[in-house]
Amino acid sequence: MDRRLFLGAGIAGATSLTFSSVWSQAAPNFGPPTLPAAGFKRVKIGAMEVIALNDGAVRRPLGEEFVRNAPLEQVKAMLASQNLPTDYVDVPYNPHLIVSGNTKFLIDTGFADNGPPTTGRLTANLAAVGYKPEDIDHVIISHYHGDHINGLRKKDGSAMFPKAKIHVPAPEHAFWFDDAKMQAAPPAAQGAFQNARRVIGSFAADQIVRFEPGNELVPGIRAEAAFGHTPGMSIIRASSEGQTFVYVADVTNIPSLFARSPDWAVTFDMDPEMARQTRRRIFDMLVKDKTVMGGFHFPEPALGTMEAAGNGYQFKPMA
Ligand SMILES: [Zn+2]
Repeated sequence: MDRRLFLGAGIAGATSLTFSSVWSQAAPNFGPPTLPAAGFKRVKIGAMEVIALNDGAVRRPLGEEFVRNAPLEQVKAMLASQNLPTDYVDVPYNPHLIVSGNTKFLIDTGFADNGPPTTGRLTANLAAVGYKPEDIDHVIISHYHGDHINGLRKKDGSAMFPKAKIHVPAPEHAFWFDDAKMQAAPPAAQGAFQNARRVIGSFAADQIVRFEPGNELVPGIRAEAAFGHTPGMSIIRASSEGQTFVYVADVTNIPSLFARSPDWAVTFDMDPEMARQTRRRIFDMLVKDKTVMGGFHFPEPALGTMEAAGNGYQFKPMA
């Protein structure tokens, strides 16, 4: 298939998820998503603490479009085999906090008050672990899809994390701010470009720090290339006293589908073939090293380990 078609579909999917829930208005009402009982989970990584924080979830009616390269019946069978509902999927949103000494790094933001009604819970869950938005020193952005960046500003325009530097992947920034790329994108994709520019472009240049994947952001916290889901998506590796944590962002959407069957492409993967290769490369590494990991769209508690399972992988949530 033409790569442009893929690109357009991916952006359109991300846009509809971010803004109006077109699909949920037209579809049968399956009720509200199941939100986690506890909105946070802590783990010690050497001298650091990592906390997965839930911003909420949406319940998405399961249609043909969600997995782009598998028949709906196969997708439903995969869910049924895990005793999961087959008419819908619950997609959670989990920013992660790394506390290193007195310094607080928030990775990705969720929606603040700009998203669906079952989102916007980050501030409450941050308070539950003892922090205020003003306490965040650094926000690290994995990629520019709306569910990861829109929480940088509230609806009234005020900055959600007023004291924070915002670290963004340089190749991701270059893509979304490239006028030629935006003009070449199909109409359905324009909204995602405009959203990225509106949110990120609203900050003073000296608040935005562009990092190169492969480099350390600060001692002990490194970004690594995980391109495919978007052109510049980066995962974050935090190491302390010989222990390691990896935040995988959207290397997989919900693992019950795309870790178990890693060759399936979620509608939001902009370059599905590159995303597929990235997914296998990174999950092979995490399985081999038994690395503690967290994922933005992972089920409660969002922290755990990845194991090999069949032709793919299985996420093992922490107890
Ligand atoms: Zn996402």
